Amino acid sequence: MREQLIRETPAKVYLVLFSLSFLLNIFFFYQHFFSRHLSLRIGSTVSDLSWTRHAAEEAEAVAAISCSSHGRAYVDGVLDNRQPTCQCNTCYTGTDCSVLLSNCSADVESGDPLFLEPYWMQHAAKGAVVLSGWHRMSYATTDGFKSLELEENIRRLHTAVGNAITHGKHLVFGTGSTQLLNALVYALSPENSSSPASVVATIPYYSMYKGQTELFNGRDYEWEGATAKWRNSNKTNFIEFVTSPNNPDCLLYDSVLGGSSVIYDHAYFWPHFTAIPEPADGDVMIFTVSKLSGHAGSRFGWAFIKDENVYNKVSNYLYYNSIGSSQDTQSRLLNYVKVILAEIGSNSDIFEFGFNKMRKRWQRLQALVNSSSRFSLQQLSPQYCIYFKKIRDPSPAYAWLKCENEEDADCAEVLMKGGIISRHGTKFGVSTQYTRLSLLKTEDHFEMLLRKLKPLVAGSDENSSNISSF
Ligand code: PMP
Repeated sequence: MREQLIRETPAKVYLVLFSLSFLLNIFFFYQHFFSRHLSLRIGSTVSDLSWTRHAAEEAEAVAAISCSSHGRAYVDGVLDNRQPTCQCNTCYTGTDCSVLLSNCSADVESGDPLFLEPYWMQHAAKGAVVLSGWHRMSYATTDGFKSLELEENIRRLHTAVGNAITHGKHLVFGTGSTQLLNALVYALSPENSSSPASVVATIPYYSMYKGQTELFNGRDYEWEGATAKWRNSNKTNFIEFVTSPNNPDCLLYDSVLGGSSVIYDHAYFWPHFTAIPEPADGDVMIFTVSKLSGHAGSRFGWAFIKDENVYNKVSNYLYYNSIGSSQDTQSRLLNYVKVILAEIGSNSDIFEFGFNKMRKRWQRLQALVNSSSRFSLQQLSPQYCIYFKKIRDPSPAYAWLKCENEEDADCAEVLMKGGIISRHGTKFGVSTQYTRLSLLKTEDHFEMLLRKLKPLVAGSDENSSNISSF
């Protein structure tokens, strides 16, 4: 028995030693080839960076500057002692924006889409884009002045969201959708016609249509105001702007003048702001990244155009107007569109984020305004949305406020006296009884709006600088 044990033991020991050696070899082989490869891919961002290191460190250092959640520091911000300083939100001041100014007005005039800033801060790594000094220096990119990759991803995004049918339509890029408004008016206007095209929109309309048409003062088109004036006329040759959802009242609109050329402005036709009842399928449709991802400063919009001649004329306009849109912007946006696409349906879905934020703001504002009869808001109802696959509550970008009392004839003025800067109803082609409040800005702007509005709703004209009352 003992002898047998002595005979068998070395065999077992050899087997164990052999197995150990085999496992160690596998471990070293993996370490040498596989994990080295991994560290080249992942570790290179940590240890092997060369020319991106300085820019990356600078970007992170500036992002880390505390502005007390009431402002931001930027790499291109104003310097103090060679250090970028905080740029504070309205009503905040101090080196770290921690001081609330007394007697400051709530500025809710513009449609600055800053409500999405926290989304990109929460997804800082995904949103970061690094461009070399020699990045796309040419006027041209992969398809003339357009990035093919960006075009494909924009089309994919519309299909994934279900808000537009893009198949069989040409795509053009503009320096903001603002540039495309007049490009399309020009392209849809008849050439050498005895009468110019009449450019019209339904009230309340986005003022840029009127402003641009009058400013450019083309031979082939002129601003002819509200559609209501032309409903029963036998005049033809209209170019009708249809804004859906509309700015300022956020309702879904359709064309009211049959037989005219229609420019569908779908700047807000994204699930943050509206239910998507079905995909839009207009012959001419405009979208903008300003209200999709919130990057208004990047100045990028796009239009789908069915007719080849119209597309050629718009392309011609864009060539002579700006030789295409910025390649830097296109590269940056390619990343954002890809991130948005990749996160659809996940916990980081930008539409879910945007919708929840806008809905909450609308509900709080509505509760306040409805607590008295001095003001009223546009009527919006829950609606089925093919993106969320359910009936969803309203979540508009703007509140279209009406002053109900006769003595409050100039509603924007009433608000101004109460410390709220709004956009005057007359800018939208309607009476002074109405004014627009932007719900798109930062949390600070929105909170200040509620603070200032509360005493007005209660019937007091006093400037509510005593903010502790809310
Ligand atoms: N259309 C509508 C209806 C808008 O509200 C806006 C921006 N406020 C634009 C177009 C222009 O957007 P951008 O030039 O930023 O793309």
